[in-house]
Amino acid sequence: MNNIVLLLGGNLGNIKSNFENALILISKNIGSISKSSNIYQSHAWGFESKNLFLNQVILVETRISPQELLVQTQKIENKIGRKEKTENLKYSSRLIDIDILFYNNEIIESDQLTIPHPRLHLRNFTLFPLREILPKYFHPKLKKNITWLTENSEDKSECIITE
Ligand code: ADP
Ligand code: MG
Repeated sequence: MNNIVLLLGGNLGNIKSNFENALILISKNIGSISKSSNIYQSHAWGFESKNLFLNQVILVETRISPQELLVQTQKIENKIGRKEKTENLKYSSRLIDIDILFYNNEIIESDQLTIPHPRLHLRNFTLFPLREILPKYFHPKLKKNITWLTENSEDKSECIITE
């Protein structure tokens, strides 16, 4: 069995219901969810948007390979995106983003896939939910644990647990 960590993100549509649907599809097609963080809210990072962003980190046990995992997460993104689009055609961007943060302690650097996720240590919206469920997890490339990475991150933006 492989332990993987995924980040769900979204800022369009009914985000919480998209997350719930994503969790169902992840359990069905990827593996069993052993832990999930609270849902955190923050303002758009890197570009202007009036919508709040929501993020959640989940820990999953899976038998599938990293490459197959990327295929499955993209299928789930498409499935959820398409479903909402037929209900509300004005949404053109994805309604959910699923990023792979870690795959066991592996370091993978290919054209399609970089694991650990190359930006996870730069953004509070990833670090805060990650620290909640895996404070001592050791980043295999940066060689620091998540608590250390969070306390030493340069991101000072607000990121709070939603009710
Ligand atoms: P972002 O997550 O930065 O908003 P996308 O979700 O559109 O961007 O991802 C773009 C590409 O990033 C994907 O097609 C995928 O091949 C690649 N990618 C590389 N590493 C990862 C990873 N760890 N998790 C998810 N996608 C990844
Ligand atoms: Mg992504």
